[in-house]
Amino acid sequence: MFDKAKRVFETPTRYQNFIAGQFVDATGGNVISRESPAHGQLVSHYPASTRADAEAAIAAARESFETGQWTFSYGGDRARVLRTVAGLIRQNAEELALIETLETSKPLDAAHGEVMFSAELWDYAAGAARILAGDSHNTLGEGMLGLVLREPIGVVGIITPWNFPLLILSERLPFALAAGCSVVVKPSEFTSGTALMLGRYLKQAGLPDGVCNIIAGTGDPVGQAILESDDVDMVAFTGSTRVGRAAIAASAGNIKKLSLELGGKSPSVVFADCDLDAAVDGVIKAGTINMGECCIAGSRLLVDARIADAFQVRIAERLQSLRMGDPLDPSSRIGAIINQAQFDRISTLVRDGVRDGARIVCGGDPDNHSGLYYPPTVLADVKPGMAVAREEIFGPVVSVMQFETLDEAINLANDTEYGLAAYVWTNDLSIALSCSRRIRAGRVWVNSALAGFPEMPLGGFKQSGNGRETGRYGVEEYTELKSVHLQVGLQSERWVEGA
Ligand code: NDP
Repeated sequence: MFDKAKRVFETPTRYQNFIAGQFVDATGGNVISRESPAHGQLVSHYPASTRADAEAAIAAARESFETGQWTFSYGGDRARVLRTVAGLIRQNAEELALIETLETSKPLDAAHGEVMFSAELWDYAAGAARILAGDSHNTLGEGMLGLVLREPIGVVGIITPWNFPLLILSERLPFALAAGCSVVVKPSEFTSGTALMLGRYLKQAGLPDGVCNIIAGTGDPVGQAILESDDVDMVAFTGSTRVGRAAIAASAGNIKKLSLELGGKSPSVVFADCDLDAAVDGVIKAGTINMGECCIAGSRLLVDARIADAFQVRIAERLQSLRMGDPLDPSSRIGAIINQAQFDRISTLVRDGVRDGARIVCGGDPDNHSGLYYPPTVLADVKPGMAVAREEIFGPVVSVMQFETLDEAINLANDTEYGLAAYVWTNDLSIALSCSRRIRAGRVWVNSALAGFPEMPLGGFKQSGNGRETGRYGVEEYTELKSVHLQVGLQSERWVEGA
């Protein structure tokens, strides 16, 4: 893989937009150049699309939707296209994983796992295209039959962040396509490679021109144009709560539907009776996966006061054996941070946490490492009001707080404006169920961390967003319901007397 990466360093990959079935440069030919955060080498050039490019992509999607070629197509035909894409993702998994590792700096193994899981999502959505159905009401009286049609919502904009480029897109795009929608995709300006590769697979799989359009570029103008367009019926936005809030304002023009997957500050709640070895491992996984640049990172560790000191020490010891280094090296589990701005944000939050009274149990010393590598860090003595307990850090940093009772644990878990995920470690069924029911979060893992299945819905409570992706709920998200009232036989009653 080092050799393949070297070839990319020598000749960075040049990508094109995918609009109306054609591969094209941005109007004016400007490009965004991306360096590998781990190697400081240029790896990709994406089109720096303009507002005109975004409008062309939206127009292509609108036109394709209005023709009805995809919208009214047989679900089995849609399924075939989606399944073919799943196969092409698997066939090209090595190349896709390398692109993701070079652009994001996630360890290659992890990137490969995400690519394979993305293929699963396309497969699942292929099945969903065939079983998507409405409903009927045969109980409305002798003369009336009610049909509830489930129809594609229309043109969907999909705006994605940089942390799981192909995976997050695959949680959305195949589901929107399965529902019969036309789509405009805008990936992150830092990690557009795999999204643009998908255009080639969709073309090869025989998707009609214009049904899916993929354009690279910055949030403003490209994302902004999608949000503001009256020709877009829905936007699925994944990213920060800050931009999500702006998206709500920008989308108000035509009252478009917004599904929002935003930030998180998810708790790992560890009870004294749990399997401690499994909990140590799970807490580390949830806290450091993807360098903590993960919306569902277990960034708050809430631990029973009776075991807190010993548990922290065990976490710190185990973290020493987590190798940080070149993400192309198979032994690395922690790569570099996505860019300097994010690295500085992590450093500042940790420094401010220490100033406010938090104690570093391990890590917290980025100056001892070169480049954009931030060491896994555990902060103890954190109080609920501190920024490190409240703000999304988006780095490999776990803030530890203690509790004494179940109620206290649940209150602490819910003491956040976010509600994306929670991890609960206990062997007491009653505690597990109480936490699962009372913690306000879209996903709860009990004695496990981050297991994922296309069947299960994902999304957030509170300011982590709204709407659900994946599973049958994920396809339904991209549909509208229509009630059809069918008079059966001749109608004898008249609205106007004597008519
Ligand atoms: P951002 O919110 O900065 O960006 C997300 C996407 O929105 C990018 O494609 C970005 O474009 C685009 N964007 C930026 N400004 C605008 C705008 N004015 N109009 C339209 N689009 C815009 O998030 P990051 O990419 O920095 O990702 C990190 C954040 O995403 C974290 O806060 C994390 O919690 C959240 N996230 C949530 C997930 C979830 O499922 N809940 C999953 C993953 C991440 P550009 O290319 O210019 O950056």
